[in-house]
Amino acid sequence: MSSRPRSSYVGRFAPSPTGPLHAGSLVAALASWLDARAHGGLWLVRIEDVDTPRCVSGAADEILRQLERLGLHADAPPLRQSERSAHYQAALDRLLLAGLAYPCACTRQQIAAANAARGLRPSRHAELVYPGTCRPENGGLHERRARAWRLRVPAAAPVEWHDRRLGAQSQAVDRAVGDFVLRRADGLWAYQLAVVVDDAAQNVTDVVRGEDLADNTARQMLLQRALGLPTPRYLHTPLVRAADGEKLSKQHGAPPLDLSDPVVTLAAAATALGLPTLPGDSSVRAWLERAIPAWQVGHLAPD
Ligand code: GLU
Repeated sequence: MSSRPRSSYVGRFAPSPTGPLHAGSLVAALASWLDARAHGGLWLVRIEDVDTPRCVSGAADEILRQLERLGLHADAPPLRQSERSAHYQAALDRLLLAGLAYPCACTRQQIAAANAARGLRPSRHAELVYPGTCRPENGGLHERRARAWRLRVPAAAPVEWHDRRLGAQSQAVDRAVGDFVLRRADGLWAYQLAVVVDDAAQNVTDVVRGEDLADNTARQMLLQRALGLPTPRYLHTPLVRAADGEKLSKQHGAPPLDLSDPVVTLAAAATALGLPTLPGDSSVRAWLERAIPAWQVGHLAPD
């Protein structure tokens, strides 16, 4: 597995260290690794530890150990978002200077009340659509203290994009989400800003991640446009479900990966990705070498 790239493809796996990898997150990791290798590209790992209250001490190192044991070696040392505040601040400053972002003083309760007054219900993910109360043209902060910073989402045509598995996608971000948060009221950087800044900083050409994140893509594209950054290609992989049909997640009590036989664990993830069964009597390295040519996006289940 040469780490010298044959193409300009750069992929990444970007886990949040809220716990060790589980069967669901391994599917996303393996898919992004296979897609990068099949393209002769680079594969990077980014530890998304901006949401510090959700991070679990030791989880980042545990994830890196798990990836090593599974033979999923990155082509560069991992980037850690907790060390990149200055870059996120610089991006926010650029947006503020361009009039594309603004400070907001509203509490969640106030946003909920404003929505209720307009007869708006929380969106699919129980997110509140921000009604634009603190937009400069609506009077700005109204002498209140800035709590968060938001992107000014244009009320234009819906954002359209192509997902390599899901096909044509479209979201009217202004109606589905409204002006979304870039820096949170607790002072932490929002996932959307950090991911966009870092995908660009790492020259990521291809985002391969779980389908539960597909909904963020339109927001991230708006941010890329606002910051003058390129938009990568996107591929959202099928979710692994628990026995009760819920998405497998750390919150849902997914057990950590059994790494006593890494080939067995990789083979289970490969099955979820529609790969044909590969001989399992080999080393991790040999199994992965066989998996690269077997990887085809067309094998992925549509949902
Ligand atoms: N850190 C996110 C997560 O673990 C993934 C972000 C991404 O791949 O864009 O859910």
